[in-house]
Amino acid sequence: MTNSPVRVPLLDLKAQYATIREEIQVALLRVVESQQFILGPEVEAFEREIAAYIGCAYALGVSSGTDAILASLMAVGIGAGDEVVTAPYTFSATAQAVVRLGARPVFVDIDPLTLNINPAAVEGALTPRTRAILPIHLYGQMAEMEPIAEIAHQRHLYVVEDAAQALGATYRGQAAGTVGDLGCFSFFPSKNLGGFGDGGLVTSNDPELARRIRLLRNHGQEPKYHTRLLGGNFRLDAIQAAVLRVKLGHLDAWTLARQAHARIYRRLFAEAGLVLDPGQRERLDRQRGLILPCEAAARRHIYNQFTIWAGRRDALRAFLSARGIGSEVYYPVPMHLQESLGFLGHRVGDFPVSELAAAHTVSLPIYPELSEAMQVAVVEAIAEFYQQL
Ligand SMILES: *Cc1c(COP(=O)(O)O)cnc(C)c1O
Repeated sequence: MTNSPVRVPLLDLKAQYATIREEIQVALLRVVESQQFILGPEVEAFEREIAAYIGCAYALGVSSGTDAILASLMAVGIGAGDEVVTAPYTFSATAQAVVRLGARPVFVDIDPLTLNINPAAVEGALTPRTRAILPIHLYGQMAEMEPIAEIAHQRHLYVVEDAAQALGATYRGQAAGTVGDLGCFSFFPSKNLGGFGDGGLVTSNDPELARRIRLLRNHGQEPKYHTRLLGGNFRLDAIQAAVLRVKLGHLDAWTLARQAHARIYRRLFAEAGLVLDPGQRERLDRQRGLILPCEAAARRHIYNQFTIWAGRRDALRAFLSARGIGSEVYYPVPMHLQESLGFLGHRVGDFPVSELAAAHTVSLPIYPELSEAMQVAVVEAIAEFYQQL
């Protein structure tokens, strides 16, 4: 057995920084010289630029993706006794924001192909208390928004998109964050547009909702020291805006690189004979191979993650890790089984597709600076793992 000499981290932010070092340093110095650190012209310029990029009327910088969701739910008036329909297979921020407002997250299972909320199950989850639907565009691909928008329209519900992993993704030509009433983005450093710390964004085409977000992120003040709404400190720092302005200029090239890497993985895994039919999902632990990510119709998948279903996933990860190849299990425990949400009273088996995904999916390196030799090393190591079984 030979140890692969090529080490492949899950993510390599230093490699990205090396390609934009001078631009970043100029931008940072501009903020330092201005000594204006909170909101202000740098944040406003970023908001104009990213609103144009996304194609929305309003884009408001906030302190994180989590606060984007919280402020959005506050803006549409979610409170005690309300229900918000969402998926359990996601990052904890989605459901926790609902609970923090005294409302109840009502879970709907995911579609096994896309790992996004199953729109066919949304209707059955609605009650007279339902106020909003909160779909997540997981891993860089948008949820099936048309039926969700349709139900929301008929039942007078708000739609808040958790687009934290989907900046630049589209569905039938419509950008993530522009289909619902509000869109929530994250600039956590590992996201496809990552800051040098925490940051987030709320998008909208509705002037009144945008006005409320603008107030809510700054204690509900208008003007200063006169509070119209109960808000918080959800402001974006100028330093983050300056970094994000630089990176936004590279985002399309980075997305194209991610998409090219996804195509290379598909080819390499097929050539290695490792690709299983999605129907094998339930029997994965007896299979030597993996199910590739699904690109659903009419979507632009931006591959924030390249997430596969893998037989013997945990043993595979240990094998890869021993060879210096990074991977991550995003969401080993679905929300309905989280200790913090135990009061919701769910049990194992309530959302079987989410549970299956939590048990069998794993994300592979897909960052833009990845080389083809690195992808070959990843695929060869996976092939070797399944051969030795
Ligand atoms: C990253 C992420 C968030 C939270 O974003 P932060 O900026 O880390 O607060 C919310 N939802 C999803 C799906 C995410 O991936």
